[in-house]
This record gives sequence, C-alpha cells and structure tokens, in this order.
Amino acid sequence: MPGGDRREGRCLCGAVGFEFALPTLFCGHCHCSMCRRSHGAAYVTWVGVARAGFRWLRGADALIRYPSSDHGTRSFCGRCGSSLLFESTRRPEVVDVVLANVEGRIDRPPQLHVHFDDRADWTLVGDALPRLGGPTGMEPLD
Ligand SMILES: [Zn+2]
Ligand SMILES: [Zn+2]
Repeated sequence: MPGGDRREGRCLCGAVGFEFALPTLFCGHCHCSMCRRSHGAAYVTWVGVARAGFRWLRGADALIRYPSSDHGTRSFCGRCGSSLLFESTRRPEVVDVVLANVEGRIDRPPQLHVHFDDRADWTLVGDALPRLGGPTGMEPLD
C-alpha cells in the first residue's frame, strides 16, 4: 500500500504502474542526446530510487525493455510509449524513474543538471542549479 514512505507512478495510458520507497537517492535533469531523443523533450528529469524498494504494480506484459547503450537499459510502455525507467549496470542497486510519471511530490526537488554540455542549443535554463558535464556527464563544467 502506498503511504508516506512510498510513491506510485504510471505511464500515460495507465497499463503500466509501479511504486518505490522513499527516501529517493537523487533527482536531476539529464540533457544527454539519448534522453532527449527517447522522450522527444528538451531534457528529462530523473529520480534515482533504491532497486530494493522498487516494484511493478501492473503491466509487466506491456513493458518493453531495450539496451540503449553498452551499460544502459531503458523501459517504456508498449501501448502508449511512455518512457519509464533507466537502469545501468554501473549502478545496479539504483533504478532511475522518470519523475514526470510519479504521482505527487517526492522528498526532494531536482538538484542539478547532468550532461549539460550535451544540451540542445534551443534549451534555455534559467535556474541556479549546478551544471555538470564532460565525458561522464557529471563533472563540473567551469
Ligand atoms: Zn502506457
Ligand atoms: Zn540522459
């Protein structure tokens, strides 16, 4: 049951649902070209959660998973196309969830921008959050 220590989320059509436990581990905006392309958006806001506290509630039969890089796997709803998860073999204990699909507020606001130097040149960012980039996408740019 969802409570104060859990959050639920779902895809656009509702076929796929999931839940995860708080506290979350991080929350940030990713400007990498793969996120941009897979979401059709300027950038994607991810929230990292502990794999041990994540579970699918429904829709396992609608879920499509595919390798998007040598270490990453992305999951989306095969019915409506909503992007749902990013998982990396570099961080096997963490699941990255698309914040936009989560119901209600989580326990932290977005904290930073990653892969900022890979951003689309039509993306204007006006906040004062740290902007990271470089080969890993997570190094200081200044
Ligand atoms: Zn769906
Ligand atoms: Zn990305």
